[in-house]
Amino acid sequence: MWSMALVLSEYDATHPTPGAGRQKRPAAHYADFVTAQQALLADQEGDRLWRFWEGQLTPARDAALDLPTDHFRPARPAGRCGRAAGRWPPALSRALRDTAAACGATPFTALLATYAILLHRYTGQDPIVVGAPVAGRTPRFARVVGYFVNALPLVVFLDGDPTFRTLLARLQGSVAEAHEHGEYPFPAMVERVAPARDPARHPLFQVGFGWQKSSRLLGGQGFNSFNMGNAGGRLLLGGNEWESLPLAEYGGLLDLTLLAGDAGDELALSLEYQTGLFRPSTAARMLAQLRILVEAAAADPDRRISRLPLLTDEERHRIVVGWNATSAPPPRATTLHAMIDAQANRTPQAVAVREGAQQMSYCELQQRANRLAHHLRGEGIGTESLVGLCADRSLDLVVGWLGVLKAGAAYLPLDPDYPPGRIAYMLADARPALVLTQAHLAERVFGVEPAPRLLRLDSEWSLVERSPPTDPSPPTAEAIRAYVIYTSGSTGEPKGVQLSHAGACNLLEAQQEAFGLGPGDRVLQFASISFDASAWEILMALGSGATLCLAPAGKLAQPPELQRILREEGIGVVTLPPSVLAALDPDSLPDLRTVIAAGEACPLPLVRRWAGRQFWNAYGPTETTVCATMGRCDPGDSLPPSIGRPLANVSTYVLDANLEPVPAGVPGELCVGGAGVGLGYLGRPALTAERFIPDPFGPAGGRLYRTGDVARWREDGTLEFLGRRDLQVKVRGCRVELGEIEAALRSHPAAAEAIVKLLDAPSGAVLAGFVEARGGMGLEADELRRHLTARLPSHMVPGRIRVLSALPRLPNGKVDRAGLAATSEPGERAAPPRTEVERIVAEAWREALGLDTIGIHDHFFELGGHSLMAAQVRARLRDALDREVSLVDLFHYPTVAELAAFLSESPETSPAPPVAGVRAAHQREAAARLARHAASHRAVPPPRTSETPEQ
Ligand code: AMP
Ligand code: MG
Repeated sequence: MWSMALVLSEYDATHPTPGAGRQKRPAAHYADFVTAQQALLADQEGDRLWRFWEGQLTPARDAALDLPTDHFRPARPAGRCGRAAGRWPPALSRALRDTAAACGATPFTALLATYAILLHRYTGQDPIVVGAPVAGRTPRFARVVGYFVNALPLVVFLDGDPTFRTLLARLQGSVAEAHEHGEYPFPAMVERVAPARDPARHPLFQVGFGWQKSSRLLGGQGFNSFNMGNAGGRLLLGGNEWESLPLAEYGGLLDLTLLAGDAGDELALSLEYQTGLFRPSTAARMLAQLRILVEAAAADPDRRISRLPLLTDEERHRIVVGWNATSAPPPRATTLHAMIDAQANRTPQAVAVREGAQQMSYCELQQRANRLAHHLRGEGIGTESLVGLCADRSLDLVVGWLGVLKAGAAYLPLDPDYPPGRIAYMLADARPALVLTQAHLAERVFGVEPAPRLLRLDSEWSLVERSPPTDPSPPTAEAIRAYVIYTSGSTGEPKGVQLSHAGACNLLEAQQEAFGLGPGDRVLQFASISFDASAWEILMALGSGATLCLAPAGKLAQPPELQRILREEGIGVVTLPPSVLAALDPDSLPDLRTVIAAGEACPLPLVRRWAGRQFWNAYGPTETTVCATMGRCDPGDSLPPSIGRPLANVSTYVLDANLEPVPAGVPGELCVGGAGVGLGYLGRPALTAERFIPDPFGPAGGRLYRTGDVARWREDGTLEFLGRRDLQVKVRGCRVELGEIEAALRSHPAAAEAIVKLLDAPSGAVLAGFVEARGGMGLEADELRRHLTARLPSHMVPGRIRVLSALPRLPNGKVDRAGLAATSEPGERAAPPRTEVERIVAEAWREALGLDTIGIHDHFFELGGHSLMAAQVRARLRDALDREVSLVDLFHYPTVAELAAFLSESPETSPAPPVAGVRAAHQREAAARLARHAASHRAVPPPRTSETPEQ
């Protein structure tokens, strides 16, 4: 049990029942108490009591209170406790009692309710289960020494956002009932409810609450020295001296315990906390917040509980204004290309871009981009135009990028590795005036009718070359929009985010301030052009005279190749998702001085591995121009790396559901205002209005982007990322809406329902799809995988797909997401290799997947394989067998046996993989869609695959 129980049992021992002292001998022994309890459990009375607790506890059975902690939660509670103490003056103590009375409740219930509200604010959970000790000692056992205390899990339901008054009325009844059923032993409740056991947490409740009639025994000289080990804690009972031990040595298994005690007219309070979880300042802050809550509830018990404040005016000001004091002079230019031009004029001969043996100086880049801009203008392109950009990582890509901007247009990146259907969707949705591409991509990517207007930057450059290399005259209207990036959409369709020059220029200034790059520095261009991280990399280099280094996408996807490129190219600054950084070896990269982790949560061990380099954690959604906050990480830290502070001219707020700022330490939705906030979603006004809201804190007319991320402020004004409010996930840095994959799965004619989850696998997080087949229709996982591969970028295709006759359902008919677990376990079908090629393939998989055994019928993707690992396998097989295996091959021959059979055939005779047919079918589909689009005036998205409205 937990420490408070010790306190209470001693407390009760000092108040023997009247008349007990007159008895000569104890009326009973402790063993009798145990027997009585056993009898209770066995008879009808026990059943009656149990039925009550079953009803109470079932809703909260597996939902442990998930308080955000200051330290990593240890595997088992260390049991060390600290405490924060406070005294409430007579007026407040009275106010609590009077309010309770006015609402028909006891002060105990009123304080319990307030405590539950506080915990709800920290966790968002409902109900909140609080453990309260009851003495458990009936008169029969009044003189028996022993442990009688029972624990009552008090379940506080906060649903419906009741007023404080309603909550008290509701709670008073259930508290009274709980006490009436309080004889039922807590250990029996645990046994019968059988909650999911986690040795790190107390079962059924993780926080405690108790109210002492007097604070005397709890602290001797008062609650402020609430130490059972001091002189005030000694008792003389029956001629024996009793000493209570310091709580710190006993500290129970609970995360927090609130104790209240009457101290004359005052109320003494103590919040006991696990020192392994919380810092003293956190407990002190919570106690102070409890007081603010009680004051507000007493002042107006008819307020809804979500509207009760947690912040004082001063603290609100410190958070909203003080931690957002980011105002800086506006950027030196109003367009990106003007900023890059200014740099090119300062360092015309410096190398701007490198790709293998090819390179281009700033002057050359400027002139080529100027020619392209002139040419595009001649084609009718200017301010407000949108130009697609679909090229391999090459000098062409960078020339195209800058040329579009210089023409005054915005660019729409189209990753050539995306399935043609995906690209066709983006073209139909965004309708760019023209697409810049390369000859070898024109047919493969845009071979659908009607094809968009193309300009091939390589084979058609002679057309561009005719235009002058001089700066094109500025367009009549200043360009506002710089680029449009498509991100995964929760209802099944990706959406285009529009970003401004102003935001991008502000970002560039922030980069220069933070990283101090200049000529001679080399920056790797790692991100796909279709992710905004690529804009971050290009700006970082070209805005400061550094060199942007390009490499083929396929190579960058393989950790050993990436490592080699970083070393051989002498890269000094790199921005990578933590999951990619984790695969690199810092020791062989002496030139790498600045490492920027971005795109997903950064774990502390990663920071430690890169000790000795400048290590940054950069955070931001696409909608806020790549990056909204960043911070330097210190390998000496003991906390998870923060995401730092808002960039210059950017503001960040952590808000509750009413868009009110929450205090430091309390999780809320991270919202971003200021310079980086984008222009909204292309052609989706409703979604734009939902996510880009008026900024209530900044200057009039400003907007705030609701990120959907959950974060909290730390006391030092830095932000900590905690997770998501929705089903958006990150897969190796790439943003994925599970809903989009589910919609794509459901679009298969034989799929009735689909759920996708992100699961932990030995090899890292892996997407898993669970599909319910339509009644009577046969459906194979591989068929679904092919279906997805034709529609979604490879990072969105689940590694594991499992077809079920029925998905598990909740009583209300909805699919039980939590009830879905991983598919076949590794090694389950571990048939050993039969041939040399099978052995080589199995070995390559084993290495890439980090598993002990691989059977020849094991499925690469079901075992958690993903495209990075596929790249590793490809490299291994190239070495061992001198054969090129493409990612597509792996999709089509996903088991060892199948792939080995395919590889055993001679390259000339191997059959064309089925993808050709899939692609042709898909291209027909895309063509039909484009035709429909051409026939209408508005962009026509493909037919909806789900019935849910947008977002
Ligand atoms: P994207 O729009 O693709 O850049 O994805 C943005 C999302 O990635 C954010 O809303 C976060 O959920 C996540 N994210 C980005 N950077 C970080 C970071 N440094 N730490 C944790 N999550 C991040
Ligand atoms: Mg991003």
